[in-house]
Amino acid sequence: YERWFEEHCASSRAAGRDAADLIPGGTHHSQANIPFPLQIDRAAGPHLWDADGNRYIDFVQGVGASLLGANNETVREKVKAVLDECGPSLGLLHRYEIALARTVREFMPAVQRLRMTASGTEAAMAAVRVARAYTGAAYVVKLGGAYHGWSDQLAYGLNAPGTARRSAGGIPEQAQALTQEVPPGDVDALRSLLSANAERGGTAAVIVEPLGPQSGTFPFAPDYLEAVQESCRSFGALFVVDEVITGFRLGLGGAHEQLGLSPDLLIFGKCIAGGYPAAGALGGRADVMATIGSGTGASALVVGTLSANPLSCAAGYHSLLEMARTDAPARAASAGALLRAGLERLIAKYQLPYVAYNFGSIVHLHTSGLYQLSVTQPDFASQLATRREAMIHLIEGFTAEGLMLSGSGRMFVGATHTDQVVADALDRFDRVFASVRPV
Ligand code: PMP
Repeated sequence: YERWFEEHCASSRAAGRDAADLIPGGTHHSQANIPFPLQIDRAAGPHLWDADGNRYIDFVQGVGASLLGANNETVREKVKAVLDECGPSLGLLHRYEIALARTVREFMPAVQRLRMTASGTEAAMAAVRVARAYTGAAYVVKLGGAYHGWSDQLAYGLNAPGTARRSAGGIPEQAQALTQEVPPGDVDALRSLLSANAERGGTAAVIVEPLGPQSGTFPFAPDYLEAVQESCRSFGALFVVDEVITGFRLGLGGAHEQLGLSPDLLIFGKCIAGGYPAAGALGGRADVMATIGSGTGASALVVGTLSANPLSCAAGYHSLLEMARTDAPARAASAGALLRAGLERLIAKYQLPYVAYNFGSIVHLHTSGLYQLSVTQPDFASQLATRREAMIHLIEGFTAEGLMLSGSGRMFVGATHTDQVVADALDRFDRVFASVRPV
């Protein structure tokens, strides 16, 4: 596929050179489109166009933020009207802040109160702060390999095998001294940690991604999260579900509703502002959320210049209405199932050592049977490296065949991935699988 990049991507190649000179790492985002990042100029629904005019079927979808498809017209027009009314940013209460909070509560009764932040990372930071303020305890427990943004306290897989220290540059050990990781799926390990913490001031929160670390790259056994919730209750820790990926995408009631969970706090991002900027929120029990605020007695500081700006709130509000009106999560989920089934057929056709599975509109394509491995297994790190290498080979092929995927093997489909778009994508996957030798 090298020649394809040579012949079709001159503008992106030049942009990549500029970017390398101006931007650390040459691109902000991880989907670097080996051998150089592509400059994307246009997006509509399930499609993207790069600076050289090549069209791609988009499985990044704003890193999962655009459930309605890229640049949804209805939402765009509503957002334009808000910009005409008051511009993007006020630093004051606005009716869309209220409208969004009310709508979220209608879809998710567990969100009795909602505080907007400017990103999912900030919302996760706020969850830690609020949990500590509410419980008076300091320890925070997360699961190995899980991602909750890039704050010092929660940065990606700091102690997880395979991902150990990968992203720990600039984070002193002291900064994470109160963050603890347990192997996902291991209830006994969690319970003994909570029990040990009880002797040293208690646990403020246990934070989980509801599908398993990295959006379900490592899925849980079905009853695991219930056991986590129960353990939280018995040790007085808050049960925090990170719905940054899953919130509104899996269903308007979120993953916690589908799994029958009752979290104390919920972390949101991405879809909560319909893919528009400054998107994050912390929601949950009114008594817990009462630790935030500008009123008397409030102790936890959660603020931000751009938090709850009218543009993001209006975008979120109108996106949620549009998702409900068009049954977008269900339509995206059937596209996800169709894509997964097609990928499974192709994997069987070429007898590849890959695996495809989906949670609604979140589709995983992994280039080994790794999903069955636990992060506790001794050869996890080397197998993870093999998987990454295989994925790099494939990403070149996908890109040249007009498929835009991130390097993680996780794909997002949206409500604009019609049966026809999925069939088109599967033809392209077929060509790549036929021509790329698996590592
Ligand atoms: N939590 C999860 C589960 C995520 O997937 C992400 C981002 N992909 C975050 C938190 C952080 O959100 P943001 O990128 O908006 O800071």
